[in-house]
Amino acid sequence: MSEQFDVVVIGGGPGGYVAAIRAAQLGLKTACVDAFIGKDGKPALGGTCLNVGCIPSKALLDSSRQFHNLTHSFKDHGISADNARMDVPAMIARKDKIVKQFTGGITTLFKGVKGNPVTPIAGFATLKPGKLISIKGHDGKVAEISARNVILAAGSVPIELPFAKYDNKLILDNAGGLDVTTVPKRLGVIGAGVIGLEMGSVWRRLGSEVTILEALPEFLAAADADIAKAAAREFKKQGLDIKLGAKVSKTEIKGEEVHLTYADASGEQTLVVDKLLVAVGRKAATAGLLAEGTGVQLDERGRVVVDDHCKTGADGVWAIGDCVRGPMLAHKASEEGIAVAELIAGLPGHVNLDTVPWVIYTEPEIAWVGKTEAQLKAEGVDYKVGSFPFAAIGRAVAMNETAGMVKIIAHAETDRILGVHMCGANVSEMIHEGVVAMEFNGSADDLARICHAHPTLSEAVHEAALAVDKRAIHKGN
Ligand code: FAD
Ligand code: NAD
Repeated sequence: MSEQFDVVVIGGGPGGYVAAIRAAQLGLKTACVDAFIGKDGKPALGGTCLNVGCIPSKALLDSSRQFHNLTHSFKDHGISADNARMDVPAMIARKDKIVKQFTGGITTLFKGVKGNPVTPIAGFATLKPGKLISIKGHDGKVAEISARNVILAAGSVPIELPFAKYDNKLILDNAGGLDVTTVPKRLGVIGAGVIGLEMGSVWRRLGSEVTILEALPEFLAAADADIAKAAAREFKKQGLDIKLGAKVSKTEIKGEEVHLTYADASGEQTLVVDKLLVAVGRKAATAGLLAEGTGVQLDERGRVVVDDHCKTGADGVWAIGDCVRGPMLAHKASEEGIAVAELIAGLPGHVNLDTVPWVIYTEPEIAWVGKTEAQLKAEGVDYKVGSFPFAAIGRAVAMNETAGMVKIIAHAETDRILGVHMCGANVSEMIHEGVVAMEFNGSADDLARICHAHPTLSEAVHEAALAVDKRAIHKGN
């Protein structure tokens, strides 16, 4: 008979491994099955986020930022460094070391759950009827386990364009884009979304000519328009060439170059690059996940259909993270993992998708929580807005980080905060003030009456909250 667990988690990304740890903490006998193979050819927990997503991209963003500051920004502080050189293989090696530290660390965390360690299983899992899980190991052997509860946390994979097939030499997906060891003279990017902007920034800072082709006519449509406009201005100054309304129809590899054909408002255009990163979104990794007859439904985009509590249509089968509806973000996946583990253990568990923060780790950083003005207009909600520029914040000027602003949107009558939008230095950290305020149903006046330390960047939040009621101190209202 197959070994039975209280909980089997399929997928060891930030959704799955966090769910497994929480389930084990709650005394449930838990296994976590994961198929990922790391750069060293060995099984690696951590999923997209730790292996080829959040962590490695932020490591390269930071290395490239340090280099760019040394060669561009430090001189304004009276610091100069002649002959600054970059060592891209060393940056990649540093990134790989960080990835290894964190992916390896999950095994330690699994072992560390007191008296009830999580059992890691390497291989590809398929859920069968009756909550049986068939696992094909990396040696080709198939084993079977069963569970009282199954959590599907299979994550996502990059969407591939039919005319730009990934070879991860010249045409790169997210994994290939994180392993380029020489600075491409010309980098092309398809998609001015989160990955395109973050990875485009890395290589621009290291000296590439970066051209980003975006199909939509509007820049960063998911963000608030004022914030997108402020960010676009800064990206232009940095030399990121973002072409909007650009529809690529063809790519051709000629020797060591990629030749692209695209159409924009002026007609057919061509672009020749040394590397092409394709970042046009991701899709749920549900291929092969479900055998016939499990009762679990997939939607038209291949995502597992779940209710507000991450329950699928099959009793005792749950699904979380990138393979279900909602934003494809690591922290959203982890919160769903914790909530589901707690629900399985009979505790309350819920994730408020309305207060999941978004961060884009460019310079300036972009961060938001809640609704944009465009969304509220579409919903017919009356609102008021207060915004404040970092250029009028003492700490920002002292830091030479004056780009961007904070914008707060509140309900016209109740003053309840509906959205907080930021663009500027360190806003990835500052956005949580907005998240906390919204989780506590806070008003703009609540934020305006909270004492903020001086001099800090967070004073822009305070001033923006005051500006909602036209009483900002350091700016005309
Ligand atoms: P995943 O992390 O994708 O993990 C799923 C795991 O399940 C994988 O290991 C996969 O191999 C395994 N698996 C799939 N199917 C099976 C199966 N049938 N059997 C066994 N194992 C299986 N998000 C942020 O919040 N912040 C960021 O800064 C950020 N940066 C990113 C940068 C890049 C370049 C990319 C690509 C993504 C980034 N993301 C970021 C998104 C983030 O990585 C995902 O939202 C997050 O990883 C989703 O977690 P998950 O657990 O749902 O899935
Ligand atoms: P994305 O959805 O952020 O952006 C894709 C962009 O490509 C969009 O602007 C879209 O209009 C454009 N596009 C789509 N098809 C196109 C085409 N044929 N030609 C030109 N442009 C086209 O997707 P992504 O950048 O691939 O990232 C995937 C997801 O990973 C993100 O949505 C996000 O959930 C996650 N992620 C998060 C972070 C972060 O939190 N900082 C970082 C990276 C990735």
